[in-house]
Amino acid sequence: MTSQDPIALVRHLMALEPPLLEILEMLELAAVADGLKPVAAITLTSHGAPPQSQLFGILAAARLTTIVGHMWSGNDEFAGCSDWYANAAKAHRSDEPILFVSQPCHADLVTGATRLDSGLSVSEEAALLGYPACCVATQRDRSRLFHRLNAVMIERAVGGDLARCQRFVRSGVALTPQDKEERRRLNEALCQMPAPYTSINMCDACAAEPDSPAHHLSQSYKKLAQQVGLGN
Ligand SMILES: [Zn+2]
Repeated sequence: MTSQDPIALVRHLMALEPPLLEILEMLELAAVADGLKPVAAITLTSHGAPPQSQLFGILAAARLTTIVGHMWSGNDEFAGCSDWYANAAKAHRSDEPILFVSQPCHADLVTGATRLDSGLSVSEEAALLGYPACCVATQRDRSRLFHRLNAVMIERAVGGDLARCQRFVRSGVALTPQDKEERRRLNEALCQMPAPYTSINMCDACAAEPDSPAHHLSQSYKKLAQQVGLGN
């Protein structure tokens, strides 16, 4: 495989047996090889252990840097949540190893981002992912709203028993909103407006406007998908 050739990279990824990656994950890795995206973050827990060595071999042959760590957090992610909730959610996240893939020139950025206790700003996260800051900011708002609602619902379900609260957060069990207003806010928090060919969850402004940063990126990813044989 030639160095950082997205077409050859995808050909090798598609040949993995058993199939290891979703199409969108392969496209994200192609985007890193192509220079369209600085860093791809892939959750490893869903993938079996033995084939992972093949994946690492393919990425190394493509001259891409791999770092296994934990997902970075936003600097305001748990604003408004109690400490028990924030700590339990962070501990839950540390159970899920993430494979960060980047070109070698971005490796230090990835290492720094995953080690930051204070979390990343919106602009830092947008720069790492190569995504519009407006969409990253909106996704942060949705995530923060989800955590606040989740904390309230868990506390209500277990009556403030700290150990049980923490177990609930780690289990990821979905809780039930108690009324229409809470359900409306939960739907708002879980809103998904994917930009095709990407993992961008669009902000309202980008979703409403075809001539928007998210749609432009979506077009670039579509072209890349066609180039590497992952789209039509
Ligand atoms: Zn946007």
